[in-house]
Amino acid sequence: MQLTDRSLTAPPQIKTVRGALKLLLDVINGPAHERSLYVYMAIVLFHWVEHLVQAYQIFVLGWPRPESGGFLGLWLPWLVQTELLHWGYAVAMLIGLIVLRPGFAGLSRKFWTVSLIIQAWHLVEHSLLQGQAITGQNLFGAQVPTSVAQLWIPRPELHLIYNAIVFIPMVIAMYYHMYPPQSEAPVACTCSRRPSLLSQQG
Ligand SMILES: [Zn+2]
Repeated sequence: MQLTDRSLTAPPQIKTVRGALKLLLDVINGPAHERSLYVYMAIVLFHWVEHLVQAYQIFVLGWPRPESGGFLGLWLPWLVQTELLHWGYAVAMLIGLIVLRPGFAGLSRKFWTVSLIIQAWHLVEHSLLQGQAITGQNLFGAQVPTSVAQLWIPRPELHLIYNAIVFIPMVIAMYYHMYPPQSEAPVACTCSRRPSLLSQQG
């Protein structure tokens, strides 16, 4: 009986899991959008550093490709060779792009969506790799798990390209979110760096 009473006094939005998720999304895309984007960017930049270190190992230091596993590969080579790590990161990336998207509007949202679509394809590629790692059956008769675009571009270069073409529209989206074009309605988000517009609105 007491439980029922308590649930009656709870805010209506969080009576169900769905309601709780909606509330969380509203917070992430509202008052916590700026902080959430910082956290997301920190994860994205950490991943970039790993890929750039790997590129440095291959192209500058001239290390053999299998031994060039970025920073993590120096300490935990088995971990960077696990397809699950790369797949899990691609999933996390896509979830971030989906979850943070409602906080964007207008031109910024268009660029964010471009990033999301490219990342969705990037995840398809990693899912193919992960599937091959699980089944032990490699596509295209290759010696190692191989994704579609890898037929034309070697893996380290390919994933540098994937990360770049996901990252560039993401950064443009954040720029237009912070500095929306004059033609667009003011952004009511703490991310906005156009306080004149914000104050006009209030
Ligand atoms: Zn924002």
